[in-house]
Amino acid sequence: MKNEVKDLVDQGLMLPLMERFYTIQGEGYHQGTAAYFIRVGGCDVGCHWCDVKESWDALLHPPTTIEALTEGAAEKSKIIVITGGEPLMYNMDPLTDMLRANGMRTHIETSGAHPLSGNWDWICLSPKKRKLPTEEIYQVANELKVIVFNMDDFRFAEEQAAKVNADCLLLLQPEWSKREKMMPLIVDYVMENPKWKVSLQTHKYLNIP
Ligand code: SF4
Repeated sequence: MKNEVKDLVDQGLMLPLMERFYTIQGEGYHQGTAAYFIRVGGCDVGCHWCDVKESWDALLHPPTTIEALTEGAAEKSKIIVITGGEPLMYNMDPLTDMLRANGMRTHIETSGAHPLSGNWDWICLSPKKRKLPTEEIYQVANELKVIVFNMDDFRFAEEQAAKVNADCLLLLQPEWSKREKMMPLIVDYVMENPKWKVSLQTHKYLNIP
């Protein structure tokens, strides 16, 4: 990457763009809501069950100015969801400031494993055991979404729930390849522990991005 491009990426004025698309938010509190997604390349968390491993190597995704990244988005939706990869590997301040100045609502899906940047209307924190969130994000997360791959993830979910703010929604979501095995266990767990809700990847059932 040329030095001047690297500088702009370091400042958050350019970001590696993997894909962007207008669809229905399939998960969490805003499930069912139309939203424009921007997927930023680069992630160093390394979940073995990750369904977007193509996102991991940031160098495979072209550095793109934040203006070009968001071009046409406002015509589709007022809600912009920044996802990855791990968006917090980058400085999200310029992108979110620009979006908000244009009247957009900014949502993020993050593992929280990197320092928090950006101004967000909704933070979905999905913590991962391999690289835990920074302490600061627990106080501002709007929803905590724990992916349940095996039984130990219920313990992990409680450990993480103990750290978030009192208003944070608590969601348990089966890892897609384990959904048939884990879903009945999640249902039982939520009925016994109703502070949690079930989250489904409804976009996968609907066969949309
Ligand atoms: S944090 Fe997300 S993008 Fe990164 S490896 Fe885990 S599931 Fe994949």
